[in-house]
Amino acid sequence: MPYDTQPTASHFIAGEYVEDTAGDPIDVVYPYTGKVIARVHAATPAIADRALQAASDAQAAWAAMTGTERGRILRRAADIMRERNHDLSVLESCDTGKPLSETTVADATSGADALEYFGGMAATITGEHIPLAGGDFVYTRREPLGVCVGIGAWNYPTQIACWKGAPALACGNTMVFKPSETTPLCALKVAEILTEAGAPPGVYNVVQGMGAVGASLITDPRVAKVSLTGSVPTGQKVYAAAAEGLRNVTMELGGKSPQVVFDDADLEDAVSGAILGNFYSTGQVCSNGTRVFVQRGLVDAFLTRLTERLADVVMGDPMDMATNFGPMVSARQRDLVEACIAKGKAAGARLVHGGNRPDREGFFLEPTVFADVTDDMALATDEIFGPVMSVLTFDTEEEALRRANATPYGLAASVFTKDLTRAHRMAAGFEAGTCYINTHNLAPVEAPFGGSKMSGVGRENSKAAIEFYTQIKGIYVAMNPVEAPF
Ligand code: NDP
Repeated sequence: MPYDTQPTASHFIAGEYVEDTAGDPIDVVYPYTGKVIARVHAATPAIADRALQAASDAQAAWAAMTGTERGRILRRAADIMRERNHDLSVLESCDTGKPLSETTVADATSGADALEYFGGMAATITGEHIPLAGGDFVYTRREPLGVCVGIGAWNYPTQIACWKGAPALACGNTMVFKPSETTPLCALKVAEILTEAGAPPGVYNVVQGMGAVGASLITDPRVAKVSLTGSVPTGQKVYAAAAEGLRNVTMELGGKSPQVVFDDADLEDAVSGAILGNFYSTGQVCSNGTRVFVQRGLVDAFLTRLTERLADVVMGDPMDMATNFGPMVSARQRDLVEACIAKGKAAGARLVHGGNRPDREGFFLEPTVFADVTDDMALATDEIFGPVMSVLTFDTEEEALRRANATPYGLAASVFTKDLTRAHRMAAGFEAGTCYINTHNLAPVEAPFGGSKMSGVGRENSKAAIEFYTQIKGIYVAMNPVEAPF
């Protein structure tokens, strides 16, 4: 492994690394070589219990600290993450295969942004004063929920660990985080850094394991909230399990997001948006605009320019800063995406670029573009989660909006046009939680991020996240004698 400061044990509980080799071994495979670079062990029930108890024991004292004190720790953690950005980015690249040219600017940096943003906000998380008749009043307290469970997907392991941990901790909750079994390493470094920054033992814990470990955490009576980033089928299971105990949830799930390009759009921007929205992180991004609707008059020019730009793809060693397109995260994910490509060909879509597995080691798959895709093809209905773009043609604005919304998903949507009123009309009409005008896939911590319809419940980032990590208590204060009927 081209990294010598990797985590030293499988789990991080109560402020320290913990090993328990009784748990099932999980091999960590470097997607560039297909070789095993590390091994962790899934949490046994004893380990899961220990993490939950540590989080439970730590919560009251953590919540009793002032927001300023908690915020200072989070901001210190942000500073440490930025100082170690290079090493953390190398680890992220080892875990996921994403090129260092991406991870250096999009992972630990994004995690640090969340720690800094919510650290800054921690002292401002307050209730309100509500005056009533006769001098009575109500005041509200915005209180933490308690122990939160975070469960992550494999595409952004550092970022997801921070996007969940930062707001949870800022609000006075503690967390047990379970990374995806495919990318177990990065969240451990987040826990280590939070501890180094001063987070008391038990405030942020990490345990490894497959879905079964996640499932066991959700239903534990010590747990108040579950925040999942994952697929829709997993979200349905996790939401149902959480509902049994009426637990709070945040569900950040999958998508099949539309990107609508009108013929007055800036062609270069529209092509850039389609590239960002389909091939960044080798297409393994939940909010990708995988259904690119292009107005009929622009389709040929769009495909020509897109194909030209794809000649600049540099596929190769993720550690080489010149590489801008890495392997897929696993052999399994590549197989799944290849099956989608085969289905697309069989359904009669026109393959205009890529579609093949390059003859080299590692889990590479070429960036792939299909044109003449129709709404009923699996290419246009199923989340692929890989480097596969589908280009569809439309004629009118009304048609584009109707077809863009004709999906059970509702994560993201974008419109490319120079017509101001049309841009805002489309943004208002999109059935999606995260919309873009003349760009796609940016996710700054200041902006709410999340999905509607089957793509999720709740929002991450921005002030909105505070709603999902706190509960409001209303306290009525009488300033007058109590009037009773008898
Ligand atoms: P999965 O849904 O397969 O897994 C997500 C996490 O849930 C993993 O840690 C997994 O563990 C765990 N898990 C699986 N089953 C259960 C269960 N029954 N109870 C509790 N936990 C469980 O997603 P992937 O990891 O394959 O990630 C890809 C998916 O995530 C895509 O659909 C993508 O769209 C979505 N995603 C959404 C984002 C968003 O913000 N909206 C961002 C990124 C991805 P394990 O894998 O170890 O078995």
